[in-house]
This record gives sequence, C-alpha cells and structure tokens, in this order.
Amino acid sequence: MKVISPAIFYQTIGNHYKNEICHLNWDKNRTWTLLFAVILSAQCTDKKVNEVTTHLFLDFPDLEHFIIKPIEELEQAIKPTGFYHNKSKSLKKCAKQLLLTFEGKVPDTMENLISLSGVGRKTANVILWNIFGKNEGFVVDTHISRISQRVGLSKNKTPEKIEQDLMKLFPKPLWGPISHMLIQFGRDFCKAPIPICSKCFLKKICPKIGVRKWK
Ligand code: SF4
Repeated sequence: MKVISPAIFYQTIGNHYKNEICHLNWDKNRTWTLLFAVILSAQCTDKKVNEVTTHLFLDFPDLEHFIIKPIEELEQAIKPTGFYHNKSKSLKKCAKQLLLTFEGKVPDTMENLISLSGVGRKTANVILWNIFGKNEGFVVDTHISRISQRVGLSKNKTPEKIEQDLMKLFPKPLWGPISHMLIQFGRDFCKAPIPICSKCFLKKICPKIGVRKWK
C-alpha cells in the first residue's frame, strides 16, 4: 500500500501549523505545574484540566501543600479530570519525590523524569520539550497514534513502538515541534472516530489506512 513520504508530510503539515505548543496552562516560575497538569490530562481534555488547575494551583500553591493536605481534599479538587483516586496518589507521591530527591525542581532528563510517580515517556517528552527545549522523543498520545497509522508512518499499535518508528523517520530537532503539530492536527482534522478528510490538506496524498468512514 502507498504510504505518505515523511518529508512531504512534514512540509505539508508544517505549512499549516507553526510554533504549536502544549495548550495546558502552567506557571514558568513553578515548572512542576506543567508536570502536574500533564499528569491530570490523562483521559481528559486540556480545556477541563485548565479549568481545574486554575483553582488547584491557588489552593495548592507549592509542592508542600500536596504532601500536607489530606488526600480527600486533593481528590475533590481534581475530580472533574476523572480517575481522581489514582491521579491524587500520583500527585502526592510525585510532590514528595520532587522535594526529597530533586530539591523541589523538575528534573531535565528522561531517566529521572520517568522515575517519578505518574510519569511515563509521553509525559516526560512533553516536559523535556516545553520546559527545557530538549528533543528526546515523540509525545505519542491518542492523536499521534491514530494519525501515524492512518497516513502510514507506522504499522505498530503501541505508543512505544510508534515512537521508535517516528524517531527513525524524522530528524531529532523536529521531534518536539512535530509532536505538537500532530496533536493539533488530530483535534482539527484527523479526528477519532471519523476524520474530516474532505477538508484535510493531506487528502490528495493520504492513503487513509484503516479509515472506513470519513466526512
Ligand atoms: S486525509 Fe483523512 S485520514 Fe488522511 S490525514 Fe487527513 S483527515 Fe486523516
């Protein structure tokens, strides 16, 4: 089956999306706020997370508050993001790890980031690119997984393997920028379950692998 050329794919998508960044709200003077917002964004929209963190980061202004305050209070505060029992435990443990092991600072390496509670490669890649400008991999979320398969950039299904495929196809300095372009492209056009192919600027070159219905 014909698949899309990575170079043409990047050129085309790069003409439409420039300087895409993470749309979660965070405070540059408290970089842990981005880390916690990304943990909260699992199975939740950025919009909902931003609504929740507007209040959360006022009521829990520093890492100490996440440790000292009762877990029930934290659960209530983050409940609208879903999975709040597990997310509360992760945030509390992560706050403790940051204070005890990293002097209250968000670490800047993949190895240290994934040692934190609630943090996997996807979250670590968001942090490394958005806070430190480092390209260590792709932010393979549900959007990037879906798009990579539809346009033929990966035949794999797991985020780990898709990430490895993408890392081989694109130069390292583009990993962070392309990740955020693709996430926005997935929200705008290549949606689940039905993509808007008729309006998509890739429609003439996309093989639409696995797409049964489109608008
Ligand atoms: S043509 Fe359709 S399936 Fe292909 S990238 Fe565009 S929206 Fe996705």
